[in-house]
Formats: sequence, C-alpha cells, structure tokens
Amino acid sequence: MNFSKSEDLHNEALEHIVGGVNSPSRSYKAVGGGSPIAMEKGEGAYLYDVDGNRYIDYLAAYGPIITGHAHPHITEAIKVAAETGVLYGTPTAHEVKFAKMIKEAMPSLDKVRFVNSGTEAVMTTIRVARAFTGRDKILKFAGCYHGHSDLVLVAAGSGPSQLGMPDSAGVPKSIAKEVITVPFNDIDAYREAMDKWGNEIAAVLAEPIVGNFGIVEPMPGFLEEVKKIAHASGALLIFDEVITAFRFMYGGAQNMLGVIPDLTALGKIIGGGLPIGAYGGRKDIMEKVAPLGPAYQAGTMAGNPASMLAGIACLEVLQQPGVYDQLDHLGAMLEKGILEAAEKYNAPITVNRLKGALTIYFTREKVVNYDQAEATDGELFATFFKRMLHQGINLAPSKYEAWFITTAHTEEDIKETITAVENAFKS
Ligand code: PMP
Repeated sequence: MNFSKSEDLHNEALEHIVGGVNSPSRSYKAVGGGSPIAMEKGEGAYLYDVDGNRYIDYLAAYGPIITGHAHPHITEAIKVAAETGVLYGTPTAHEVKFAKMIKEAMPSLDKVRFVNSGTEAVMTTIRVARAFTGRDKILKFAGCYHGHSDLVLVAAGSGPSQLGMPDSAGVPKSIAKEVITVPFNDIDAYREAMDKWGNEIAAVLAEPIVGNFGIVEPMPGFLEEVKKIAHASGALLIFDEVITAFRFMYGGAQNMLGVIPDLTALGKIIGGGLPIGAYGGRKDIMEKVAPLGPAYQAGTMAGNPASMLAGIACLEVLQQPGVYDQLDHLGAMLEKGILEAAEKYNAPITVNRLKGALTIYFTREKVVNYDQAEATDGELFATFFKRMLHQGINLAPSKYEAWFITTAHTEEDIKETITAVENAFKS
C-alpha cells in the first residue's frame, strides 16, 4: 500500500496544526511514530484514505459511528438540518423530541441537558454534584478517561488514600488535591479511600463498563458496592456513559447492569457522528442547574438542530429489532477467529469482548484493571497495529482502545479481518 499523500499531508499539517493532529490520540506516537493516515471518505464499514486505499474500519471515530459511515438515514437528517438552518439560538422541537427519546431509553434521567462534547458533559455533572452536596472532592478510577477538564486530568497519588497529582501540565495542584483515584474493580482500595475521604466527597465518578483501557467489565457486585458506600457517605454516583450508552443495548450500561446512578454523562453515539454531549439524572439534583438553580452551565451550540436531528436518526436506526444481537454475533465471530489465530501461531494475547466491542491485549494474563492493561506489551501491539493497517484494517493507534463493530459490518468483513489477524500473528 502506498501512503505518500498521507505522509505529505501530515508534513504540511505539522507546519500549521500543533503536532499535525487535532486530538493527540490520532497521532501515531504510541505506535512508534509515523504519519497518521488521512481519510477522505467513509461509507458503511469502510474508510478510504487520500491515497485511495480502502480500510475496514474498527476505529468508528473512537465510538460514535455505530451505524457505519454516512448511514443514509442519518445523512438524510443532516441534509434537513443543512437546508433549514443549522443554528437558531432558540429552543426547538427537535431537542424536546430527542430529550424524550433519551429519557425513555434511560429512565434514571428525569431531566437532561444537551452540551457539545463528552468532556463538557462529565465536567458539568461534577459541578452539579458539588452544587447539590456542598462538597468539593470527587473519587474516580485509575485509567478511566473522562475528557480533558482540569478535574479529571488528575493521576492517582502514591496510594489509594492519597490525594491526586496533576496528570497534565496546566492543571493546578490545588485542583488535583480534590481528586482521589483508586484502581477499578478493587473494592478494598475503594473502601479504604471512602473511609478516609467519604464525608468530603461530592461524587464517585465511574465508567460502568470501562472503555478507556480496553473493554473491562466490572466484577460481579463491584458497582453495587461502590454505589452503596457512596450513598452511605452522602456522595452521589455519576456514571460516565459517553462510550457505553447505546453501545451494548438500546439504553445505558446502567440498564444492562441494573445499577442506577444519580447522574449520567453521555456523548459519542447519541450524536450520530455530530458533536454532542448530554447529562442528566435525578430531578432534585438537575434542578440545581441554571436557570432553575445556582449551578451555571451554558452553550451557544448546545442542542443545535443538526446534532439533535442526527442523534434522533441514529437512535431510530438502533431501535430496529435485532441490531444488538447482530453486533454481538459479529463480535463473537471476530473474537473466535482472533483466538483461533492466536492459538495457531502461539500469539500471546487476551481478548476482552462485550457484544460489538473488543480489545486485544498483548498478554496472557487477565485484564481487569489499569495496571494490568498498562503492563501489556506495547511494542507487540505497535507491530500488530502496523501489520493490520498495511492489510487495510483501521484500528485505533493505541493499545488501550477498543475495536468497535458497526451495524454496517458484514460476516464477509469479519472473515477478511480474521485473515488479516492470522497474517499478522504468523509473521
Ligand atoms: N468520557 C469517556 C468515557 C470518553 O471515552 C470520552 C472520550 N473518549 C470522554 C468522556 C470525552 O468525550 P469528548 O472527547 O467528546 O470530549
């Protein structure tokens, strides 16, 4: 495959855009460098790059593209938005319809508010939780990504009972001190931290199913206990469902797992590929938000007609019978093919899969927390990533990301992918 136009474009981009990318995860830094492939067209399960190469896409734009690229129903909705004006700065019927659809799918959201990104959604749930409880601290789990607001760009201290440290330059130490980070799936560490800080904590923030150090499910009873202890301490429970909502079923991971949080942050899938975020939850908590309450949050683009119409169209596609069974079916087929190829060529891997999302870790150990994901072999992953790319399979350039199957993928695509995996393991 020839990537010369992508290389030229990246060299030009480096002159004008910091690092040549508009989000650091798009650079190939984590896979040994090189020019990221520039795409110019998406169609169903496929992406086409500027050199004319075709890829089966499992990046799915880091999650939002669950119906495949340029889905006709969503494209039609975006056309309507383009033709009727993309932004009014006033209420619309679209946002009311969409809010009702989301509430119906996720009954814990008595009230919602649309914003423009997952970052904004999570950032605001934290502010609202602080406004409601009158407390400042939060507790989160190591390796979970919650966007790039100051409060969540905080790394763990040296032990579960230690206050956090900035995980990015520019995050004040004074803010990091308000954040406690403990390992996911480690109920003892959580209990220890809550014993120490529980009565100062406004909210416990969790991805109910982790998507940010690969796909990691909570151990049985973990989230139930997290919620029980949070509430006993007077803290709220926030689920960051930016990746998980509408991913595994029509609704949230909260509905699948039967653990209902006080507040929920949403993003990605609900915008059908257009910029979006949303947050919502218990009425008495949400009523702390302006103009009803003292917690301020606003947005020029929030609830814009294009994102609303694309989001409605996306959820309509996901309401079709059999959608999630088909994602699960293809996911199971892909997982089986990967494991058989690994067995055949003695590749040291572990697969975590839930329905249409999976991660290949280069380790033979189980992965249930961030330290285990971090300990997997990044160099082997980088080699694997490049071998897959050169066979026309587009994955995220990071060992911590998931593969996302879309409703546009077919059994043929999965078979072609398994052959590519076999070749990658063989060589
Ligand atoms: N929360 C989670 C769980 C995420 O995975 C992400 C993005 N990967 C975010 C929040 C931030 O969303 P955005 O990039 O739309 O700001």
